[in-house]
Amino acid sequence: VCWSEKGGWHRPRVSPYGPIQLDPAAAVLHYAQEIFEGLKAYRHADGSIHTFRPYENAARLQRSAHRMALPELPAEVFIDSLRQLIAVDGAWVPTADETSLYLRPFMFAKEAFLGVRPAKKVAYYLIASPAGAYFPGGVQPVNIWLSTDYARAGKGGTGAAKTGGNYASSLLPQAEAYEKGCQQVLFLDEGEYLEELGGMNVVLVRKDGTLLTPESDSILEGITRDSILRLAADRGHRVEQRRITIGEWREGAASGDIVGAFACGTAAVVVPIGRLLAEDFEIVHSGPEAEELALSLRDELTGIQYGRVEDRHGWMLRLDA
Ligand code: PMP
Repeated sequence: VCWSEKGGWHRPRVSPYGPIQLDPAAAVLHYAQEIFEGLKAYRHADGSIHTFRPYENAARLQRSAHRMALPELPAEVFIDSLRQLIAVDGAWVPTADETSLYLRPFMFAKEAFLGVRPAKKVAYYLIASPAGAYFPGGVQPVNIWLSTDYARAGKGGTGAAKTGGNYASSLLPQAEAYEKGCQQVLFLDEGEYLEELGGMNVVLVRKDGTLLTPESDSILEGITRDSILRLAADRGHRVEQRRITIGEWREGAASGDIVGAFACGTAAVVVPIGRLLAEDFEIVHSGPEAEELALSLRDELTGIQYGRVEDRHGWMLRLDA
């Protein structure tokens, strides 16, 4: 779908996958005026195809659009794009390795000009790709590297938007995490407050079953995190969303009050965090409680997504009918 200042959103069409032509002066190539989303489609046992909380993705895309001075895409156009894609790609069959279809909606400034101002011509696209396990080796506890040299976002910045620049700035710290033997990087705000991983939110588990997760206006509001916290609340867990310092995690882990942590996001769903490595300290979570809780919440969530568990919150939307 294209957008122009005069014509609004127009020309929705489905075309075979292939390269996009862009003018070398297209604003996105220079000023990174672009946003995206990520969600998945699941085939249920009766063959029908469903997606998970797509109106949340539509709303988040609108919030991202606002921050990046892009036009808001109406939710109906967003949902319609998912349906149209499934209408042509509906023959997709899940395999043991690739159990879902990852959907990637994205929007970018395609107007050609050199100069810093919002573009007057924009395009919205949706592509899809079968998705497998995010972490090779299955759902094993992961190690996280605490980045202290780099920040992902700051107050008033673009941290709450799903925009490429945030990911570009996380590439170097993510590479550093790999060098340290970790799979993901944890970012702090003001060198002190927990934010999120490169592509996932983080949740701490206290001994009494309370789930603790960062409140911040510069992290991406994860739809998986929101869903997991609601499932946990349904089970009677207390949920606290507030500013959390790295010191609180360290001290809580040392005293036994914080028994573990997990990361969550659309791609990886839920993964326990085994260790947090930092330049001058380390937090190790080896007890079973938090890991068992994380995996059981993961099972419940994926059960809903794949149609094996009752969708009592009305989260699923059928796309192929
Ligand atoms: N934080 C970041 C930086 C992310 O890229 C993602 C993945 N979209 C998340 C958190 C988790 O969000 P969600 O659960 O909606 O996938």
